[in-house]
Amino acid sequence: MASKTLTPKSEFPTIVLVGPTNVGKSAMFNRLTRTRTAIVCDRPGVTVDRHECVAESPDLGKMKFIDTGGVGAEALSHPLGKEIERAAAVALKTADIVLFVVDGTREIGNQELEIAQWLRRNLGKLETPVWLVANKVDSKKHDAQSYFALGLDKNFSVSAEHDIGVMELRDSLAEIFLGNSTKTQDEETSETEKVKAPRILVLGRPNVGKSTLLNQILGEERHVVSSVPGTTRDPIESSFLSHAKGIDWKLVDTAGLRQPGRLERDVEWVAREKLKEEARFADVALVVLDSNAGITDLDASIAGMALDFGLSVVLVFNKWDLMTQSDASDKWMHLQRTQDLKLEFVKWCPRVKASGLTGKGVKDIVKSLQKVLSDRAHRVQTSKLNEIFEKKIRIHSHPIGSRGRPAKFYYLSQVSSSPPEFVLFSNLPSRDVHFSYRRFISNTLRKEFGFSGCPIKLHFKNAS
Ligand code: GDP
Repeated sequence: MASKTLTPKSEFPTIVLVGPTNVGKSAMFNRLTRTRTAIVCDRPGVTVDRHECVAESPDLGKMKFIDTGGVGAEALSHPLGKEIERAAAVALKTADIVLFVVDGTREIGNQELEIAQWLRRNLGKLETPVWLVANKVDSKKHDAQSYFALGLDKNFSVSAEHDIGVMELRDSLAEIFLGNSTKTQDEETSETEKVKAPRILVLGRPNVGKSTLLNQILGEERHVVSSVPGTTRDPIESSFLSHAKGIDWKLVDTAGLRQPGRLERDVEWVAREKLKEEARFADVALVVLDSNAGITDLDASIAGMALDFGLSVVLVFNKWDLMTQSDASDKWMHLQRTQDLKLEFVKWCPRVKASGLTGKGVKDIVKSLQKVLSDRAHRVQTSKLNEIFEKKIRIHSHPIGSRGRPAKFYYLSQVSSSPPEFVLFSNLPSRDVHFSYRRFISNTLRKEFGFSGCPIKLHFKNAS
């Protein structure tokens, strides 16, 4: 299937290579331009600091490649360092794609982080895609993961010298400019399926009303699969495919987590083990609570488990019909008190009042599910994330740790979504990042970008 193509700014797509010195950028440039018909190389007037070549090849058509001289601290020690950097900045403005070439055999360091910042500054609001090319990756023992954490638009591990991985890079260039996708039909289909059929686990203590609510949500929907405990591949699961509200949902009844006659702590243990397995294939947990009974430790622990396993959480205050009765004032007070006490740590999860018995709140549950599903998949625009990092996060002081080392934060990037995962580079080892600072960053990201009901994974990388 052809994907949306990128329209070049000028006559030919322009690919600009940047990176520190000695990472094999020229080898990469030669690999990309060494074709039978290199049309124009090193145009008159272009100095040593910059090589240009318009090359034509059967897979890419005509493309212009520009190899800028090295940038970053090492390159600046060159007598012409400043001029070279300035020329590179000019070349950047003409780029349709920037290839940030690094030495994949070395861990990311300050120099690469500075170049990443330099790229951000110089590309400004251009939204030019930047692809990370980790070069010199000749064997599996080299692992360029530390660079991938920069969260650039695409990542490649290549060896320009041995022509490893270069084909994938060329394929991606062909795809973005010419719309030639090399994805197989199966890959395309499985991706769409993931979007089309989110899996919702219905969780909660025994007797909070999960099954009743589930039937209410499904209403007249088609009941596609029903697994009788003990007769199917997975005895704990009953799956339904709901076509409600135009979304194909898999609602998974976890009634099988119930262990009749067991003590609550056993239930919790069994639930954790089963849930861990289930959560690998799910997106959202509908955590059903019994409003009439108030909130218990086990309720809180179920919500916590779901988040730990990466699920988004919607809290459903079920049996609300009993709370609207005239003599319910004591129950109200009990619920208020227990909810303040036990559910403070999930205050950013949507809460819905519902009754499985009357059907109240079912529409709101559906709305909340839609909201958490879309928030969960949200990928923050790099330029927006950079802006928030500069304006709100970097300026916020970090408590001085036990070693008395002032903290410096360099760069924040989103490395994945569903659930969202961020990496923050600083001069501190991860264990020295104060928990209050971790909380501050999560709160800031929530405030700016929503992520309703969704756990945010934060990693800290020491880049000093
Ligand atoms: P599960 O173990 O969580 O699946 O709970 P069930 O759906 O089997 O319900 C447990 C009991 O609570 C049953 O007697 C239901 O009739 C009752 N129940 C479920 N939902 C509601 C509700 O919204 N209001 C009231 N009043 N009772 C409910």
